[in-house]
Amino acid sequence: MNPHDLPPATGWTLARRAERMNPSVLREILKVTERPGIISFAGGLPSPRTFPIAEFAKACERVLGDDGAGALQYAASEGFRPLREAVARMLPWSVDPEQVLITTGSQQGLDLVAKVLIDEGSRVLVETPTYLGALQAFAPMQPAAAGVPCDADGIDIAELARLRPGARFLYVMPSFQNPTGRTMSESRRAALAQTARELALPLVEDNPYGDLWFDTAPPPTLAARHPEGTIYLGSFSKVLAPGLRLGFLVAPHAVFPKLLQAKQAADLHSPGFNQRMVAEVLRDGFLERHVPTIRALYKAQRDAMLAALEREMRGLDMEWNTPQGGMFLWAKLPAGLDAASLLPQAVEQGVAFVPGAPFYPDAADARTLRLSFVTASVAEIDRGIAALAASIRAARER
Ligand code: PMP
Repeated sequence: MNPHDLPPATGWTLARRAERMNPSVLREILKVTERPGIISFAGGLPSPRTFPIAEFAKACERVLGDDGAGALQYAASEGFRPLREAVARMLPWSVDPEQVLITTGSQQGLDLVAKVLIDEGSRVLVETPTYLGALQAFAPMQPAAAGVPCDADGIDIAELARLRPGARFLYVMPSFQNPTGRTMSESRRAALAQTARELALPLVEDNPYGDLWFDTAPPPTLAARHPEGTIYLGSFSKVLAPGLRLGFLVAPHAVFPKLLQAKQAADLHSPGFNQRMVAEVLRDGFLERHVPTIRALYKAQRDAMLAALEREMRGLDMEWNTPQGGMFLWAKLPAGLDAASLLPQAVEQGVAFVPGAPFYPDAADARTLRLSFVTASVAEIDRGIAALAASIRAARER
């Protein structure tokens, strides 16, 4: 609600920053797509088939049995020490557990970064397109978000020097990006780390999908190449379960204390009970057995979507990419169509997707759309892509 719309007699006055908070366009879209009978490629929901429910049941018993009072008590803002150590061990570069901060999802990492690094009007560089949830987390701090041009390989490094002046950081998802599913190549990563060093441009690397590769692991992270210049955000949402609301960040010494203070003010600490459960589940190397099963499932689902697109979109001038991991595929409608206008017609046909435009900080490509291939079953993918093709044909005939 706009502050001017508030009934004057009640005395409420909203802060200016509240004007910058908007309901996520995505959430509004998801409401429509959650109607019964709709096949949804819209949500970024991990497949519930991957949730390790039995592991958590066992872990719960052990956590409460071993030190139930500790699990239910207030705890340190940094996070549960054994979990911070497990995170440091899990990451394939040298990480000091003292630099690991456990967050309430990596979404909170984005919020803390915004609070600590953005002033009103600060320039913040993002990929084109970028994660909508990051734009939302940054928005209350009133940055001037600027999109860096990108190609299939990631951001255009040459543009960084031009955009650098006054920029507080570059927010980047090098592996299986949300929304496009694209991955930055080895050479692009090396060039980005090098350029970030030369320009003294801080990096915020968001990597919730990096472990979900299909054939080969993505190249090493930016944090591994340039640790003192990178805040790295990770998450347990896609490898264990999003309902835990647990993620982490790894921050250089220069910014860690401020992020910790922001965390303390935000929620004191992430749920200690959940942190201990995850530490317990991770203890015997569970992720090394579990994550390959997620990779295999998501790869089969991606393949099903690619095959369905090949079959159903023949002759339609539709374009799409082939993501090598993660949860999303990025597509482009034939010229003359607009994804936001197509959505209601697609929903009529029984299928939903997310239009690409809201993911652009500026100059949106209205023909783009994001398709998640992980939540719907293979049979639903077949029916859903056929329905999408039918809605495109109908729209072209109008
Ligand atoms: N970053 C990116 C790129 C995401 O796609 C998501 C989830 N959609 C998040 C952060 C937030 O994830 P969580 O808070 O569940 O860790």
